[in-house]
Amino acid sequence: MTANRRGLLIILSSPSGAGKSTLARRLREWDAEIQFSISATTRPPRPGEVDGREYHFTNEADFKARVNQGGMLEHAHVFGNFYGSPRPPVQAAIDAGRDVLFDIDWQGAQQITNSALSANTLSIFLLPPSIRELRNRLEARAQDDAETIARRMDKSWDEISHWGSYDYVLVNDDLDATEAQLKTIVTATRLRRSQQPGLTDHVRHLQSEFEELT
Ligand code: ADP
Ligand code: 5GP
Repeated sequence: MTANRRGLLIILSSPSGAGKSTLARRLREWDAEIQFSISATTRPPRPGEVDGREYHFTNEADFKARVNQGGMLEHAHVFGNFYGSPRPPVQAAIDAGRDVLFDIDWQGAQQITNSALSANTLSIFLLPPSIRELRNRLEARAQDDAETIARRMDKSWDEISHWGSYDYVLVNDDLDATEAQLKTIVTATRLRRSQQPGLTDHVRHLQSEFEELT
């Protein structure tokens, strides 16, 4: 199927707690056509997580087999577990002109940015306003125990240190303001010439009409 518009691969990365999931949810409420890339992972589900909704939960043997068969667009080892983005749903979506949103770490972002799909990629990094606020948010989310929060805080600088390789960097201070900035970036990137393959035909029609009328 060909579409008038090529789908975008929208990558959101940040240290844990900076606001990725919240902003990803708001982006999808704004445009329900944006498809979320559901990652595969070898980590066990947390309470409330449903297989096929937050993640495809799997084991290491299955994960590695899928990587070896080329079934992952990118994959990485994060916090002691494997995570990867299954390729087939992404390819189908962008061929049909639908955008795909990825909540992945810097390693995955780098792999996609360096892949054959780089021309259709938009990468955005979220920074917290301060490290103190990052910790407050992790605590306020009340999802993790103290040890997990400490581990996420330990890892946060590693993630933040890769901010410089993203297309856009937003400081997520005021949530509504960041949401507005994110929508502006997506709207503008959708209008990139490379995202609009239908323009060639349109200009051809303009040319015929031009020759007819002048
Ligand atoms: P991530 O997905 O990056 O780990 P979340 O989206 O879960 O982060 O956000 C962590 C916590 O911070 C959540 O409780 C969320 O409601 C809150 N939060 C996100 N953005 C902001 C913001 N700009 N100001 C205040 N709180 C925020
Ligand atoms: P969590 O286990 O808290 O859901 O996710 C831990 C980290 O793994 C987050 O930084 C998240 O962005 C990252 N992550 C989730 N899925 C993927 C994926 O498919 N690929 C990569 N590279 N990272 C992922």
